[in-house]
Amino acid sequence: VSSIHDCKIVLLGDSGVGKSSLVLRFVNNTFSPWQESTIGASFLTKTIVVDDMAYKYQIWDTAGQEKYHTLIPMYYRDASAAIIVYDITKPETFDAVKAWVKELRTMGSPDTVVAIAGNKCDLAENRAVAVESAQAYADEIGALFIETSAKTAENVPEMFRRIPAMLPAS
Ligand code: GDP
Ligand code: MG
Repeated sequence: VSSIHDCKIVLLGDSGVGKSSLVLRFVNNTFSPWQESTIGASFLTKTIVVDDMAYKYQIWDTAGQEKYHTLIPMYYRDASAAIIVYDITKPETFDAVKAWVKELRTMGSPDTVVAIAGNKCDLAENRAVAVESAQAYADEIGALFIETSAKTAENVPEMFRRIPAMLPAS
C-alpha cells in the first residue's frame, strides 16, 4: 500500500439498534442473537485497504443508555467519522438519529463525517422507517445513508469501506 491512515470511528444511536452487532460483524464476521449490552464503550481495531491506501480503523462502540451519555462526547470529539445507527423497525430510533446529528453539530468537530445506518434490514416486513425519508434526511445533512443487517451481513463491509471516500483530503 502507498500510505497508512489512522481513522477513529464512533458508533452512536439508541440502545438495541445493533451498534455492537455491526462492529462485531465487520471486525470478526460474527453475529449473536443474544448480543450482550455494552457498558460504557468498547474499542476494536481493523485495518482495511481501499484504493491502495490502508486505513487503520479504531472503532469506538458506545452504549446508548442515558446514564452513560456524559461520557460519549469523549468518543466523538476527535472522530474522523460517526456512524449513527437506527433500527428500521423502530421509528423512535430514527428520531434519535436526528438528535445525535444536532449534538454532533453543536458539540462535535465540523470535520467529523456522518454516516447513517438503517440497521436490521433483514426485518423489512416490519419496516417502520421508509428508505426514501431516511435518504432525504441524509441528503439534507450531507451524510452517507445505507441500510444494513448485522445478522445477514448485508452492506456491513460496504458501509465501512465507503468511509474513506467521505473523509476530507489529508
Ligand atoms: P446495541 O445496543 O446498539 O449495541 O445493539 P446490539 O448490537 O446489542 O443488538 C441488540 C439486539 O438486536 C441483539 O439481540 C442483536 O442480536 C439484535 N440485532 C442486531 N443487529 C441486528 C440485525 O441486523 N438484524 C436482526 N434481526 N437483529 C439484530
Ligand atoms: Mg452495544
